[in-house]
Amino acid sequence: MSTQGYDVAVVGAGMGGLATACLLAKAGRSVILVDRAPVAGGVCQSLAIDGLRFDIGATLLPGFGPGGPLATLCQRLGISLSTKECDPAFQVALPQHRISLWATPAAWWREIRREFPDEEAGWRALWSELEDLAAERERALREVPPLPPEGWGNRLRVWRVVTMGPASPATTHPGGMLKRSMATSFRVTMLRHGLGQASQRVLEAGLGYLLLRDADECSTLEAAVALQRVRQGVVAVAGGMAAVVEALVGRFQQDGGQLRLETPVARILVDGHRVAGVVTEGGETIRARWVVANVPPDVLTGTLLPPRRGWFRRRRAVDGPWHPVQVAQAMLLAVPEALLPSELSGHCFVVGDPQRPAREENLVFIRTAPAGDEGQAPGGIRCLTVGRFVVRRAGCEDDAMASDLLEAVDQIVPGVASAMVFHRLLTPAALAEAWGRPSAAVRYSVDTRDWLGERGLPHRLGRPGLFAVGEWTYPGRLVCNVAEGAIRVADQISESA
Ligand SMILES: Cc1cc2nc3c(=O)[nH]c(=O)nc-3n(C[C@H](O)[C@H](O)[C@H](O)COP(=O)(O)OP(=O)(O)OC[C@H]3O[C@@H](n4cnc5c(N)ncnc54)[C@H](O)[C@@H]3O)c2cc1C
Repeated sequence: MSTQGYDVAVVGAGMGGLATACLLAKAGRSVILVDRAPVAGGVCQSLAIDGLRFDIGATLLPGFGPGGPLATLCQRLGISLSTKECDPAFQVALPQHRISLWATPAAWWREIRREFPDEEAGWRALWSELEDLAAERERALREVPPLPPEGWGNRLRVWRVVTMGPASPATTHPGGMLKRSMATSFRVTMLRHGLGQASQRVLEAGLGYLLLRDADECSTLEAAVALQRVRQGVVAVAGGMAAVVEALVGRFQQDGGQLRLETPVARILVDGHRVAGVVTEGGETIRARWVVANVPPDVLTGTLLPPRRGWFRRRRAVDGPWHPVQVAQAMLLAVPEALLPSELSGHCFVVGDPQRPAREENLVFIRTAPAGDEGQAPGGIRCLTVGRFVVRRAGCEDDAMASDLLEAVDQIVPGVASAMVFHRLLTPAALAEAWGRPSAAVRYSVDTRDWLGERGLPHRLGRPGLFAVGEWTYPGRLVCNVAEGAIRVADQISESA
C-alpha cells in the first residue's frame, strides 16, 4: 500500500522530531510525523499513576532565556508556555556540605563563602575564566557559516574556527584560550585554581547530570558551556514536559501536519542514491522528499537504513560504536509536602562519598515537582523522581538499587522510607518500555569530536535527503540542545528548493 507523497517524513516524535516537524509545517511544508509509541514525546513523558503525575525524562530546562533555543522555538511557533524560573538552578548535597547554584551573584558568592571560605578566590578565578570562555565561544560560533558548510570557502572557514588555525578569530584572543581550553580537562583547570575535593564534587555533580561526563572526561570548554547555560537561567514548565509536548502537537496539527502514532517504521526507502520516504511495519509506503530520523542510532543503522557499500568517511557517522554505555535507573516517590526541607531546590544532586568522583552510583538526582503544580499531585503531596545514570551491566539487583536510591533521598528528606505515600522502582527495562526506545540508554560510546565545547555528530548523514535530529546528534543531550539541532535541520530543509 502506498500513500500520497509528503515533503517531509519525520520518524520519531521525541522532542527532536516534534520540533523539526512543527517548524517545517509552520514553514508550509507538508509533513508527516510517525512514531511507534501510543503518545508523542519520547523520553519527555510523564507517567500518571494513582492520581499522581511524574516526569520521568527532562525536567531541568535551560534555554528558555532570551535568544535560547527553547525560547526561539516557542517564539517561532507562536507557543506561549507558563514557565517559572528555578532559582537556585540546582543544589548539591555532600555529607558535610550543601550548596545551591543561585542565579543572583550576591547569593551565590555568599554560598561559596559559607561552604568553602578558604577557596573563594579560586572559585572566583575559575568562574570568571568559565564566563570568558563561554563568551569567547559564542563569538567564535558567530563566525561559523551554517552547518554543514556549503562550498569550499565555507568549509575552510569552519575548519579554521574548529582547528583554531592561524586565521581563526579565536586565536586573536590573548593566548588562544579556546584552543587551550579544548585540550585541557576540566579537572586540570579546577586543580589549577586550587579547588579542593568537595568543591570539585559540587561542579562534577552538575556536569554529571548535564553532560553525563565527569571532570576528567570533559574539556574545560565543554564544562564552561554547560555551566554557563545553566547560569543563564533554568525554568520549570507548569505541567512539565508533557505540557510542552502537548503544545507542540497542537501547533503541528493546526499547521496541517499529520501525526501517526502506533506506527513503527520498518525501514527508510532509498531510491538510487537518495532517500525517498519510509515503509512502516504494517507495509505502508510513505513517500517523501526528505526523511528526518529522530530515532536512536542503533535503530537507524541497524534497522532502518539498508546496508550500503563503502562511501566516504561520513558513513562512519552512522556506523559508529553505538552501544549504550550508561542506562538510567529511577524511582518514583510521593511524600507529604511538610516533610520536604524548605531549602530543597527542584533539582538536588546527592554525592554519597566525597572521596570518589561524583558519577554513576555516587551521584543520585532528586527532582521535585514544583510546589503548587496541581497537575502533579493532590494538595499536601509532592512527587519526586529519584535516579542515577549507571554503566550498563548484568546482575544489578532491583532491591539493592531501590535501597541505594532511598538512602540518598534520606540524606535530604530524613525518614522518607516510612513517610512516603507512594513509591515505584523503574528499572532500565521499565524505562525502555515507557520511552519507546530499545534501551533506556542516555549516553552512547561514540567517537565524537569536541565541537567548540559540545560533543556530537552532524545532522547530515551522507545520504541526500536524510537528516538526523535528537539527543545523539550534534549538538548535545539536553532538550535545549535537541531543539537547537531541530531548528538547524528545519531551516536547512525549508530553505531547500
Ligand atoms: C532520566 C533522564 C533525565 C533527563 N533529564 C533532562 C533534563 O533535566 N533536562 C534536559 O534538558 N534533558 C534531560 N534529559 C535529556 C532529554 O530528555 C533528551 O535529550 C530528549 O528528550 C531526547 O529527545 P529525542 O527527540 O532525541 O529522542 P526520544 O525522546 O528518544 O524520541 C525518539 C522517538 O522515536 C520513536 N521511535 C523509535 N524507533 C522508532 C521506529 N522504528 N518507528 C517510529 N518511531 C520510533 C520513539 O518511540 C520515540 O518517541 C534527560 C534524559 C533522561 C533519560
